[in-house]
Amino acid sequence: MTGSQPLRVAVVGSGPAGFYAAGQLLAAGLPVEVDLIERLPTPWGLVRLGVAPDHPNIKVVSRVFEKIAAQPGFRFLGNVEVGRDLAHAELEDLYDAVVYACGAQTDRRLGIPGEDLQGSWPATAFVAWYNGHPDFQGLRFDLSCERAVVIGNGNVAVDVARMLALSEQELAATDTTDAAIAAILGSGIREILVLGRRGAAQAAFTTPELKELGELADADVAVDPAQLASGPGVEVVSGDATAERTLEVLREYATRPPARRRRTLRLRFETSPVAIRGNGRIEAIEVVRNELVGDGRGSVRAVPTGERETIPCGIVFRSVGYRGVPIDGVPFDEERGTIRNRDGRVLDGAGEPLAGVYCAGWIKRGPSGVIGTNKKCATETVELLLEDARAGTLGRRGDAGHVDALLAGRGIRVVGYEGWQAIDRAERALGEKRGRPRVKLVTWEELLQTAFQAG
Ligand code: FAD
Ligand code: NAP
Repeated sequence: MTGSQPLRVAVVGSGPAGFYAAGQLLAAGLPVEVDLIERLPTPWGLVRLGVAPDHPNIKVVSRVFEKIAAQPGFRFLGNVEVGRDLAHAELEDLYDAVVYACGAQTDRRLGIPGEDLQGSWPATAFVAWYNGHPDFQGLRFDLSCERAVVIGNGNVAVDVARMLALSEQELAATDTTDAAIAAILGSGIREILVLGRRGAAQAAFTTPELKELGELADADVAVDPAQLASGPGVEVVSGDATAERTLEVLREYATRPPARRRRTLRLRFETSPVAIRGNGRIEAIEVVRNELVGDGRGSVRAVPTGERETIPCGIVFRSVGYRGVPIDGVPFDEERGTIRNRDGRVLDGAGEPLAGVYCAGWIKRGPSGVIGTNKKCATETVELLLEDARAGTLGRRGDAGHVDALLAGRGIRVVGYEGWQAIDRAERALGEKRGRPRVKLVTWEELLQTAFQAG
């Protein structure tokens, strides 16, 4: 950012954190050029490929991202994966600064026997499949069994449980993939059992999401009132309004007589999986009842008792959190599954800031927080980046123009923003014919073909 030269920044990942970082940079009042580099031909990260298809109102945030993309100085470089098509060291040479906003691309493990048995799935894969992520369309989820078990008490677990229970009418108005709609409607599942390791008062899901479970056309929601009677699992820390509301909703569920709908969504607390059992594929899950131990300061831990039980089931979804994956050459904190950083400045092995390298979003904080959380997070990162630019400590002068030649020389065809817009138009047109918001293109081949037809 010296003389009339613009500040050239590569932002890696086009989910909320990447877009908010780009938006903050472009609004900084300086000459800035941002290349938003994305491994997929489509932008928006989990807003397109994570947020549940029956929550179209949430996806409307993409309009904010479209406005950012329309600003001068912005470029979308889709179909380019950092770590494969471009190395971190190359980005350091090509740009004044790099912001990693690549999210959390895999799942946390449970570390129990049978975790990898056929029929035991990470929620990450199921979510990506029903949302049309092109890397996950070859998966086949066998939903012919009577009972599915969802492990975890976060909003993703609630999404997975709800998606398994949606009726034809509820699915019809969504952009769920055709394969997922067919599998869910043809499913034999009668009970969806959601297991939380701690109590109802400690559940991570939020009240609107919990309430939705009680409003489904084809599913009853069931909670055993005995679970809500007493003990640390129902003791609300003073001022925790979410936990108060959670208990209120659950108590109402516990008094509901079953309406004999097609499926039952059963919520069970203070229960941990111990092993997934089966001969070649899942036949049952072994669980243990937990005792909850408080530390007197509001924190509650689950401690297994000796009380075990085997519950027959045919499919398990492990929804215990996402996890970041390392990119070659970028310092990584293996324990947290994030890029090693302080407030968004990436740190080297000695804990010192690496000049010109930053991160934002889930790869910075870990896999928690809603879409809006990433705005604050990206703003914090960009403020530090601009502070370093003003202080002259970015350490180099990149020439972003060279990235095009480098990628072309490697035979990598970049999907620009107009390529994505062609995909968007094609999907909306398909959706219009079928009374749906969009019908997603789900294979690499059709996505790239449609993008490149644009010019
Ligand atoms: P992401 O959204 O994951 O974006 C990361 C992007 O980086 C992706 O596009 C990825 O393809 C790209 N990328 C990864 N590696 C590379 C690489 N090497 N090179 C180039 N590109 C790369 N929040 C809400 O407010 N409401 C909801 O309803 C909601 N539903 C959710 C449902 C699910 C299933 C999940 C998992 C989360 C949900 N969230 C919701 C949370 C919200 O989606 C996240 O807070 C947010 O998406 C995190 O943003 P991010 O930019 O850090 O990561
Ligand atoms: P999360 O909110 O962190 O929930 C993870 C759940 O897994 C917790 O209940 C946790 O229990 C449990 N867990 C972790 N390790 C476990 C283990 N070994 N055994 C059993 N249970 C275990 O994560 P998430 O559901 O993946 O959601 C990620 C973020 O996206 C959250 O911030 C969420 O709110 C957001 N999101 C929002 C929406 C929405 O707004 N509609 C939808 C989806 C996701 P403990 O609490 O005991 O650790």
